[in-house]
Amino acid sequence: MKTKEDCIFCKISSGDIPSKFVWSNEDVIAFHDMNPQAPVHVLLVPRHHSDNILDLAAEEEGRQVFSQLLAAVPRVADALGVSESGFRLIINTGKGGGQSVMHLHIHLVAGEGLSESIV
Ligand code: AMP
Repeated sequence: MKTKEDCIFCKISSGDIPSKFVWSNEDVIAFHDMNPQAPVHVLLVPRHHSDNILDLAAEEEGRQVFSQLLAAVPRVADALGVSESGFRLIINTGKGGGQSVMHLHIHLVAGEGLSESIV
């Protein structure tokens, strides 16, 4: 598994920066966003470091890491109690896509107000 020394999400994954996980396994961690934009706002983060989804797609282990993320979605949604009510997943990519932390992650947002979608 690839990690990056100066990456904040790698440090959260390794425990160097303390965080209370909503859910985790050996491949993926999920924790509350520190600046929530919705009543429920959780980040799903692969422990494997890729700067963004384009980099991951170009890596040999990209598909495996992405399936680990996919498998985590229902687990995290269950842990948050939003499987029935519904939620939205967002992957910001690059500066133009609003990405501020350069370690691939999925935002899971849920709760009142999500109907005002731009897509
Ligand atoms: P993005 O803008 O898509 O890169 O999302 C990065 C997200 O990470 C932002 O919503 C930040 O609020 C969140 N974030 C950054 N540092 C932390 C941290 N230490 N713990 C929790 N959330 C964080």
